[in-house]
Amino acid sequence: MNSIIRFFCVALLLISCPAIATAQKVGLGESVERRADETWKIALQIWNFAEPGYQEIQSAKLLSDRLEQAGFVVKRGVADIPTAFTATFGEGKPVIGIMGEYDALPGLSQQAVPEQLPRAGATYGHACGHHVFGAASMSAAIALAEQIKSGQIRGTVRFYGCPAEEGGSGKTFMVRAGLFNDCDAALHWHPSGRTSAGDGSCLSRVAVKFRFRGKSAHAAGSPDQGRSALDAVELTCHAAELMREHTPDFTRIHHVITAGGGAPNVVPDFAEVFFYIRHPKAEVVKELYPRLLKCAQGAAIATETKLEEMYLGGTMEILPNDTLSQVTMSNLRQLNDLKYTAEETQFAARIHSTLSKPLPLESLAQVFDTSGDVGKGSTDVGDVSWVVPTAGFTTACYVPGTSAHSWQAVAAGGTSIGRKGMQLAARTMAASAWDLFQQPQTLAAAKAEHARRMGGRKYDPLLLPGQKPPLDYRDSPTGAND
Ligand SMILES: [Zn+2]
Repeated sequence: MNSIIRFFCVALLLISCPAIATAQKVGLGESVERRADETWKIALQIWNFAEPGYQEIQSAKLLSDRLEQAGFVVKRGVADIPTAFTATFGEGKPVIGIMGEYDALPGLSQQAVPEQLPRAGATYGHACGHHVFGAASMSAAIALAEQIKSGQIRGTVRFYGCPAEEGGSGKTFMVRAGLFNDCDAALHWHPSGRTSAGDGSCLSRVAVKFRFRGKSAHAAGSPDQGRSALDAVELTCHAAELMREHTPDFTRIHHVITAGGGAPNVVPDFAEVFFYIRHPKAEVVKELYPRLLKCAQGAAIATETKLEEMYLGGTMEILPNDTLSQVTMSNLRQLNDLKYTAEETQFAARIHSTLSKPLPLESLAQVFDTSGDVGKGSTDVGDVSWVVPTAGFTTACYVPGTSAHSWQAVAAGGTSIGRKGMQLAARTMAASAWDLFQQPQTLAAAKAEHARRMGGRKYDPLLLPGQKPPLDYRDSPTGAND
């Protein structure tokens, strides 16, 4: 009898003893650190591949193969996207999702040096740090799988291989395919110029390309025979500028002309403009889109050209989750160990001399609280957050004060500065997920908060009915991927 009582006492102690729990959690961090060299090698390979959205064939293969090797069940080509995949380990509830990205950005090729210097033969660069995003999340998922395997935690960890975050809305299609339906909580992170957590949100966004087709002619010899597609683009842009005055506060509209003719003496028969509309609320973005479309339609009428509307879909604003954000915040505060060596400090000083708003290096020790902030970017993580409680955080993978989508971000992301941020992210991600495996009450509270924030609304994505993923959105009309 005594021995039975003793057995239960010990069992109870094992379950509730914080020291044992902490030791397991330390084991988790050790697992991430043990793989540091390998994770960094994978990150650097992805940094070198620098593949465009929906064309991340090598990057997706590298990550999915490694997860498969670690015992994950991998499903490739999910949601009708060749470079999207899920990798699942364990069984039963809870199911904790970990997102990873791996697409690069056009026009931002850069070497890992503190001066602007493109890489030979490359036009794309990892200016949003998605090479470390994918690799750190992968490492965290493997650490959690080890703990499931050894019986320390129970449930399922699922890595979501998410392509084309930059303007391709990859996750929106993955959500629509139901891949997050059985997920209890989803975690993400993002490389940044500072370390932060909190229940902030971001801007909702739609992306569209307007393609115009006219008639070419000799611009001096027979201009009357031509109808300029470039005129249509210019008129669309002008109309959009005028429309801007009459849009709700906090609207952002921006565009680039991706094709506008090749020579001034040829009336261009093809031109293309690429627009984003953003606002903190998806419902406003939805209202603005038909108005922008009218600008393009009007331009086509006026210039006697044909308009082709290439609606790329959009992303929702993030539905924050304070319950989950507190978990990531507390782990980030405990684990943040970022500091630079003399060599890294020297690199940082040279990058700082090129920044308009550098942050002091001492800020590395700080974890910024972004609660209540509305970030000025957009992410397809937003769509995930409407169907499953979601939280994220950032770690400093660039020199403090560096903005994403800059050559400075690509440069630091290819050095040990990026590696340090990546490792901190992997440990924080693993520790936060571990907490969710161990604390069913936190998961329940996160779900209740999610329901409260939805307030009876239905998730209504910014996609057309039956819309296919725009797999060729990075292809220029001339066939070049830039
Ligand atoms: Zn990004």
